[in-house]
Amino acid sequence: MEIITHPHPTLKYKSKPVIRINAELKAIVSEMFELMYEAKGVGLAANQVNLPLRLFVANPAGDREEGEEFVFINPVISKGTGNEVADEGCLSLPGVYGPVNRSKSIHVEAFGIDGKAISLDLDDFMARVVQHETDHLDGVMFTERMVEHSLQAIQPEIEDFEIEYQSKLADGLIPDETSVHAQLAEWEAKFCQ
Ligand code: ZN
Repeated sequence: MEIITHPHPTLKYKSKPVIRINAELKAIVSEMFELMYEAKGVGLAANQVNLPLRLFVANPAGDREEGEEFVFINPVISKGTGNEVADEGCLSLPGVYGPVNRSKSIHVEAFGIDGKAISLDLDDFMARVVQHETDHLDGVMFTERMVEHSLQAIQPEIEDFEIEYQSKLADGLIPDETSVHAQLAEWEAKFCQ
């Protein structure tokens, strides 16, 4: 398992609800926490490790020894209130940061890795993390939420990732979109059907 970067096609994929929580899924989740901490992130969505599953992991402290670990399976956000603009970054666009307007407070319903229902009212940073990660599950990157002039400022950095991706693709170092989608279908058969 590894973190994929823009413009990998799985980052544009709308993930499917998980209907099966088993030992394999638990192992996936703990590996995702591992990768998130290694990369110094606070959240990591399944799309970002090339899996088409509606789940993400988060720890607002970004440190195994601190904060609290959350697993959100099939999250649904509602009751977004207030607005706040703050800089965001993403493990799938390392080193790129830009301002994004998000709801200041949200309500989220989901399931934990123990299968128990989660119902939380979240504010500020944690609300932002949950909105950013839930966007990933819908195939949306934070850059797509940025206003035009902010996006233009980081466009050259985004293009560097695109050029690198295209060159790897041309050299046959990474699978093409058709192969990626075939892999995703296999994962869906395991956990979503
Ligand atoms: Zn992200």
